[in-house]
Amino acid sequence: MKVIDIKLLVMDVDGVLTDGGVIIHDNGTESKKFHVHDGAWLRIWKRLGLQTAIITGRQCQAVEHRARELEIDFVYQQAHDKLAVLEQLKKDSQVPTEQMAYIGDDLPDLPVMKRVGFAVAVADATEEVKLAAHYVTSVEGGRGAVQELIQLLLQRMNLWDQALERYRR
Ligand SMILES: [Mg+2]
Repeated sequence: MKVIDIKLLVMDVDGVLTDGGVIIHDNGTESKKFHVHDGAWLRIWKRLGLQTAIITGRQCQAVEHRARELEIDFVYQQAHDKLAVLEQLKKDSQVPTEQMAYIGDDLPDLPVMKRVGFAVAVADATEEVKLAAHYVTSVEGGRGAVQELIQLLLQRMNLWDQALERYRR
């Protein structure tokens, strides 16, 4: 297995951190369901001094709250051109694209996936997205796909023992 050096984990939201379902209420607000395992492993990832980012085409308060809860370093909502946002993220984070991993599920994610060091598709991603990915998760979006990716990265980056140290006391 190739050893990779990823400093920034970039995620799409709908269909990756969620199962893609969007519940629209009568007053126009939205609900989304996130998986606690993704959140737990994002905290482990951050504790190692590594960074996180969200790029989503939609705009919703729930994402803002969840991102704050998980201390996501860079949040871009209403990103209709994800490639332009990737350029912005490069400037904001000072991390080169080779040291970014991106996890997506649908066609708008493709241009970004072709440029990052490690591109990942969720199990139920659109076929073209899966074909462009270095890795396809075994689970679907919203079911712990980010947890699976973080575990894979930590193993390939030789950070597994360090990550789990505090739980083995
Ligand atoms: Mg999506």
